[in-house]
Amino acid sequence: MGRMNEKTRELIQQDKQYLWHPFTQMADWLAGEPLIIDSGDGFYLIDTEGRRYIDGVCSLWCNVHGHRVPQIDDAIRAQLDKIAHSTLLGLGQTASIELAEKLIRIAPEGLAKVFYSDSGATAVEIAIKIACQYWRNIGQGTKTKFIALKEAYHGDTVGAVSVGGMELFHGIFKPLLFETLFAPTPHPYRFAGTSDECLQFSLSAVETLLQLHPDQVAGIIAEPLVQGAAGMIVHPAGFLKGLERLARKYNVLLIADEVATGFGRTGRMFACEHEDVQPDLMCIAKGISGGYLPLAATLATQKLFDAFAVAGDVSKTFYHGHTYTGNALACAAAIASLELFEQNRILESLPAKIQLVKEYFGRFRNLPYVGDVRQCGMMGGIELVLDKQSKSPFPPEWKIGAKVCAAMRSRGAIMRPLEDVIVLMPAVGMDIQTLTALLDIIENTLIRDLPEIVNL
Ligand SMILES: *Cc1c(COP(=O)(O)O)cnc(C)c1O
Repeated sequence: MGRMNEKTRELIQQDKQYLWHPFTQMADWLAGEPLIIDSGDGFYLIDTEGRRYIDGVCSLWCNVHGHRVPQIDDAIRAQLDKIAHSTLLGLGQTASIELAEKLIRIAPEGLAKVFYSDSGATAVEIAIKIACQYWRNIGQGTKTKFIALKEAYHGDTVGAVSVGGMELFHGIFKPLLFETLFAPTPHPYRFAGTSDECLQFSLSAVETLLQLHPDQVAGIIAEPLVQGAAGMIVHPAGFLKGLERLARKYNVLLIADEVATGFGRTGRMFACEHEDVQPDLMCIAKGISGGYLPLAATLATQKLFDAFAVAGDVSKTFYHGHTYTGNALACAAAIASLELFEQNRILESLPAKIQLVKEYFGRFRNLPYVGDVRQCGMMGGIELVLDKQSKSPFPPEWKIGAKVCAAMRSRGAIMRPLEDVIVLMPAVGMDIQTLTALLDIIENTLIRDLPEIVNL
């Protein structure tokens, strides 16, 4: 191990002894020297050695206003002085009511009810189950299948994995999954044809599935505008609207998984707003609590809700819940986060930041090994390839993405790749100065370190 203080050494030893990390090949982890984060300060993370890093992926896509934000900290403390948690089974709870009212006020038109849970995956499970039972409740119980996109990511519980399409993560669990109908992801960079042809190709595949399975499809589920985990794939404009049109035409539900895209990431509060889309169900999590506490929600239309609210009919009840559903501390953090959106005029501040990222990305595009740059608001992906002309990828065992992110860490930024796509996901509240510093680190790494890493 390198030079480090006694406490860091002990923490690393105990981490390796006791923890099993998510999405991590633990043999590699055990052989490495992990960074241990001890505190945060605004848009910086601070490790046990006192070193500061810009949080370039906002603590895995959830932080919004920074770390240790006084207003959110105070809101949680104030809630703690009242109550930390009380169940929503058979009882109401103040903070969860106040937040639900605020969420419906900012959500796309038509969404009227909030069903809480605690992670993106559970928000998706709930949407799937509501959709399935909705059709059953109104006497169309044959509609049980879902249409999803081939490289979709909707979380890691078994239902969410069933509608996921990432072979490496999801293929392993195939024996456990329910059958889902998959349509190709509209991915212009990897499509032989124009962006419009790419859009039409995917939409017509969705339509074909709807025609092949009449009265069997409950809903279409998709990440609106951007497929994050698949590698920051930005759909051609109009794709989401096209899905909505097909959902209406074939009388199936549209489920928008806004877990990654919600709360300002795309430049609007929700991605659906860009194409004036009104989903029947919307899943939100990640940024909902400002990135402070585990909280999620599935929003549903009045029409869906009414199919369950039938007096005296227990067979129409939605039998689903989690112990911490609507946790009061998390709801208090979420309310404070939404208030900060207004106080700090976050949405109004975004065009300037989005423009800044666009300028840097325009330069990155011309650098060696940068095959594609993709941006949707404050969500960005830089795809590194071995050969720009043929778009052929690096051999996976070269671990280019991971090595580039390690180089960025040495320069003071925490970044995380998706294979060889470098993900840029700063907190939407990040100030221009810090954002510029982050983009400078990325640029310096791509210019100075990347060619060296490739030629090693
Ligand atoms: C992260 C993510 C999820 C899963 O959220 P968790 O809170 O990690 O369960 C679901 N859908 C999308 C689009 C995501 O990006």
